[in-house]
Amino acid sequence: CGIVGYIGHRQAWTVVLKGLKRLEYRGYDSAGIALINEAGDLNIYKKAGKVVELEKYSTDKDKSGTIGMGHTRWATHGEPSDRNSHPHISNNGRLSIIHNGIIENYSVLKEELLTRGHEFKSDTDTEVLIHLIEEIYKLENVDLLEAVRLALQEVTGAYAIVIVDQDNPDQLIAARKGSPMVIGVGEGEYFIASDASPIIEYTKNVIYMNDNEIALVTREELLVKRLDNVVQTPVIQELEMKL
Ligand code: GLU
Repeated sequence: CGIVGYIGHRQAWTVVLKGLKRLEYRGYDSAGIALINEAGDLNIYKKAGKVVELEKYSTDKDKSGTIGMGHTRWATHGEPSDRNSHPHISNNGRLSIIHNGIIENYSVLKEELLTRGHEFKSDTDTEVLIHLIEEIYKLENVDLLEAVRLALQEVTGAYAIVIVDQDNPDQLIAARKGSPMVIGVGEGEYFIASDASPIIEYTKNVIYMNDNEIALVTREELLVKRLDNVVQTPVIQELEMKL
């Protein structure tokens, strides 16, 4: 029920974990974090239960990296469990996704992907979406942003998603339809969250994503497009909330 993403110069684990705690009030049954470290490894830690369980579980793990994302889950498809917790990964394990919302047509898509040899590790609707993105990415000879855009045109339902790609470790892709998403704009860093509470301690400058928008986020820039491929000029607003 909450998402947090970070790309910049800070350690992503710290920003994301703190952000997930700020979003706890929304309610959830599981939590997870994905990070890409300096060596380019994609590390994913996820657990049913509270954020503090995830924190305990991750004590001895490699939590380094300046790009990452985290999720608190309110299960809709698949029981609350470690394996159904987000982040989920693509068939080849190189792409990872966090998602709030519901992919309504996931079962038709899943059947098609099964016939193409995909193997699923969870019972979630979300995992189907990241496999679909991988499939389109492979088949269409397009960049990842375009693959995500094309995949989202195939799905019905509601979503706020963030995606990381091990092969493009300096970018996040985010999109929303029917679930809230805010992007915080810092100096050489960006924050993504379900609401501004994980962002306020770092920056007052935020962009509220609109439905049917998709964003490519690097340390240097933010590109926002609509799902119909029209480039948008994001409006930066100033938060008035006090810490
Ligand atoms: N439908 C997804 C799931 O069951 C996402 C749920 C959520 O919004 O947290 O895993």
